[in-house]
Amino acid sequence: MGMGLAEVRGKLRSGFNGILEEGVPLADYTTYRIGGPAGLLAIPKGTEDLACLLEAVIASEARLLVLGRGSNTLVSDRGFEGVVAVLSRGLGRITRKGEDEVYVESGCDLNSLVKWTIELGMAGLEELSGIPGSVGGAVRMNAGAMGSEIGQKIESVEVMRLCGDRVERKCVKRGEIGFAYRGTDLDDRDVIYGARLKLARESKKALEARRKEVLRWRRKNQPLKQPSAGSVFRNPPGISAGELIERCGCKGMRVGEAMVSEKHANFIVNLGGARAGDVYALIERVKAEISRREGIELVEEIRIIGEMGEEGG
Ligand SMILES: Cc1cc2nc3c(=O)[nH]c(=O)nc-3n(C[C@H](O)[C@H](O)[C@H](O)COP(=O)(O)OP(=O)(O)OC[C@H]3O[C@@H](n4cnc5c(N)ncnc54)[C@H](O)[C@@H]3O)c2cc1C
Repeated sequence: MGMGLAEVRGKLRSGFNGILEEGVPLADYTTYRIGGPAGLLAIPKGTEDLACLLEAVIASEARLLVLGRGSNTLVSDRGFEGVVAVLSRGLGRITRKGEDEVYVESGCDLNSLVKWTIELGMAGLEELSGIPGSVGGAVRMNAGAMGSEIGQKIESVEVMRLCGDRVERKCVKRGEIGFAYRGTDLDDRDVIYGARLKLARESKKALEARRKEVLRWRRKNQPLKQPSAGSVFRNPPGISAGELIERCGCKGMRVGEAMVSEKHANFIVNLGGARAGDVYALIERVKAEISRREGIELVEEIRIIGEMGEEGG
């Protein structure tokens, strides 16, 4: 184990109650089902575990990758040599705070939160039904659908900030966070561990009906039976990336086992044994084609981790 990982492991011998594993394939932790080994995979059980883990990471100067459900992430076939903190298998608690507010830990599955709030007649998240991320990933990406974004509902976000040689806990208020289209200006050293959301009141029946409608729309328009990371590219101003890609005849384009979905042109699906390199090469081909034919440079929405390109290169 290189890059301070043995040191991290040593420091976690006491005080850390989560799971630690060396060399596990990250394919098991991404919705693409793609990704090479993690140097050290850590699954904190709760907030204190996470703090303990981050302190060990800082002290050992190991590299850190935070993952929620890995539903917006393409991980290299060579994996990630540092510490991978997977937050979506712990840190899942939801607490009601009065009439229309909730506090939720960042590892909570977004869909579970949507269902939980609907059950209590709390409105505001139903449009996000079917987004397969964690709350932390959704906040970080400002996930959205049907014209609604999670950022609109955020009151504050609890972060652990990696500052020099210590971990500082901070409550960042909504006014201090810039939410943009599929992104925020939260510091890259901020690990989100919780969020407070302000919702509205509405009948459970109406909210459930809306959730069903949204899920039906997704099943109709998105290739949900094949592994993917959702939309690959951001929409350029004024046009949807999917439309552009379809217009340029890229639907069905393939590299290895990666294919531009026939159902939704902005999805690249894993047909089975796709490698990260296949997906990446296909991304490059689609970009080149759209640039050549439309003069538009597409930009990825998905996060790309590690080096892509030729095996061993
Ligand atoms: C079928 C399908 C449909 C989708 N539809 C939509 C959609 O309609 N709208 C939409 O916006 N997205 C959509 N997505 C993309 C994805 O689900 C969202 O971006 C989701 O919010 C990502 O959450 P995650 O936990 O999986 O993030 P991950 O992929 O695990 O992480 C994404 C990024 O956030 C960072 N991150 C994750 N957790 C934390 C944390 N706790 N603290 C700090 N940083 C963190 C990671 O380091 C990474 O940079 C879809 C994906 C799929 C597969």
